[in-house]
Amino acid sequence: MANRIQLLPDHVANQIAAGEVVQRPASVVKELLENAIDAGAMRIELLVKDGGKALVQVVDDGSGMSPADAGLSFRRHATSKISKAEDLFHLQTKGFRGEALASIAAIAQVELTTRDAEAELGTRLRIAGDTVQGTEAVVTPQGTSIQVKNLFFNIPARRNFLKSAQVEFRHVLDEFQRVALAHPGIAFRMVHNESEVHHLPVSNLKQRIDHLFGNRMNARLVPVAEETQIVAIGGFVCKPEFARKSRGEQFFFVNDRFIRSPYLHHAVMAAFEGLLRSESYPGYFLYLQVPPESIDINIHPTKTEVKFENEQSLYAILRSAVKHSLGQFNIAPVLDFEQDQNLETPYDYKDREAMLPGVSVDRNFNPFAGEKPASRNTGSYRPAPTRGWEARYEGLDPDPELQPADWVIESETRQEPLFDEGAAGTPGQAGLFQLGRKYILTRIKSGLLLIDQQRAHQRVLYEQLLQNLSRREPASQALLFPLQLAFGRAEMHILRSMEEALAGLGFRFSDAAGDTLELTGLPVLVPESEAASVLDQLISDWQRHDGAGDFSQVDRVAKELCRALAVKPGTPLDPESQLGLVNDLFGCKEPAMSPFNKPIHVTLPLEELEKKLNFHG
Ligand code: ADP
Ligand code: MG
Repeated sequence: MANRIQLLPDHVANQIAAGEVVQRPASVVKELLENAIDAGAMRIELLVKDGGKALVQVVDDGSGMSPADAGLSFRRHATSKISKAEDLFHLQTKGFRGEALASIAAIAQVELTTRDAEAELGTRLRIAGDTVQGTEAVVTPQGTSIQVKNLFFNIPARRNFLKSAQVEFRHVLDEFQRVALAHPGIAFRMVHNESEVHHLPVSNLKQRIDHLFGNRMNARLVPVAEETQIVAIGGFVCKPEFARKSRGEQFFFVNDRFIRSPYLHHAVMAAFEGLLRSESYPGYFLYLQVPPESIDINIHPTKTEVKFENEQSLYAILRSAVKHSLGQFNIAPVLDFEQDQNLETPYDYKDREAMLPGVSVDRNFNPFAGEKPASRNTGSYRPAPTRGWEARYEGLDPDPELQPADWVIESETRQEPLFDEGAAGTPGQAGLFQLGRKYILTRIKSGLLLIDQQRAHQRVLYEQLLQNLSRREPASQALLFPLQLAFGRAEMHILRSMEEALAGLGFRFSDAAGDTLELTGLPVLVPESEAASVLDQLISDWQRHDGAGDFSQVDRVAKELCRALAVKPGTPLDPESQLGLVNDLFGCKEPAMSPFNKPIHVTLPLEELEKKLNFHG
């Protein structure tokens, strides 16, 4: 048989290897920013076009390179940062693999301009798909500028795989923020499509956080500091009452390098235990310094995962440091919110949330400010103000099978009611139960109907929003006193990109100056007290969820809005709310599917229940 094994040509090998380092424009951003920092830069500029798909450029005032080094820098395994294997255990630099520039040059059009302190003239090099296309001597300031154009221009399959410019922009921004947070002592500027996104002067950490995320951060941060033999911890955590409904700003840095660590994240969450509303996430900016030889950053090609020698001690130290800070700043009176209700309820009734006396709800309740912890966690379903509470199925009649048989609970089957009638209130008449704080259970002719409360509410909100859209002038509640909301510049950038959709749904803005947005009107569905948190969540969800399958930007924002506003699993609903929700759901055009195409309800036919009962008999 003929020999079939052959060595891959260099450019193919490089392209394959490049896939490890460069997944998207943000990966290029990370590598170039890190190189600039390794070169000792004090000022770094990042210029990006179309989310980095058209251009990523980094300009620094660092050491620069000699003409010979400039040529070598694009060779695979060319690095000035380590020379022997032991160096790997004492890394002081971000880079060490000598792969980034080689990988980037294999899959993009690159132009490098650089000059070191000794040389009078700098060097300009053009490279595309691995081949040097020209070198010239140029007049240029000391430092380095690298332009990376048309990423994956020679690998159409990869290029097509990139997401929209907006999504890529979000990733680029994330990367930029991480590097900028790790180095408050370096000045940064970021420009996207000619507009300035960030301008960050040299500052201390707290100022850097403010510059990146807006002034409002200032009052929210609590310092964390701890020093032990194996780790020094610094940075800030956000006060629990500012925890967001979605994972917002959560950052770990180890030896000035951003890392992901579910394990350390868990330690922080453990410190916050008992202080957070359900489904909310605290922000944190935590900096760990450990001896370089006690970590291994080598296990992931893009180096965001780290292996620690003393993982368990780190966990304990971090948790207690954060706990200590929260306590010291009087944030952690130990309130026992997490008491399990099931423990106190007779077994037979443990799932009968519906029978609890109706709790009306203060959604703004701040458990850390006042003294009425009992009402935490309760939520209620609010029907749109335009709709009444009355049942609306009569006449609409979408599917007779789904009509509740009647609304009278069979009280005669209850031997000894747990609650007297007064306490049970309206639920008795509705025949609705809430199950596991997630579902509403009701009787229909052929058996039982189980409704997912979150999905049902999403559907109701979605149809109300769409109805609103079809009007020429979307219904909007004008605010008597406009709300001033502070956002970070990057957040303003995102808000602006969905401005039209927001206006279509009933948000009204007057001019936004700097990082403050003046809100003058809101969609009828959004309570004024929740405007800020809803916008917060819209921003953080906006680029995390892919828009595939949406009709338009408005449709997408409408869905995100539903996601933000809908009652969440775990929220007890009072009987009136349950009834209102069920009524509104069956008044919808499509009561079966959530806006995200998930089924909203299932029937449990009587026959099947009977079969189960008789299975052993
Ligand atoms: P690594 O950073 O792992 O060494 P890279 O491929 O990123 O590998 O860079 C190769 C080499 O090019 C670096 O070791 C450094 O000597 C040089 N280099 C890259 N970027 C810069 C820069 N902005 N300023 C000065 N030197 C640079
Ligand atoms: Mg590098």
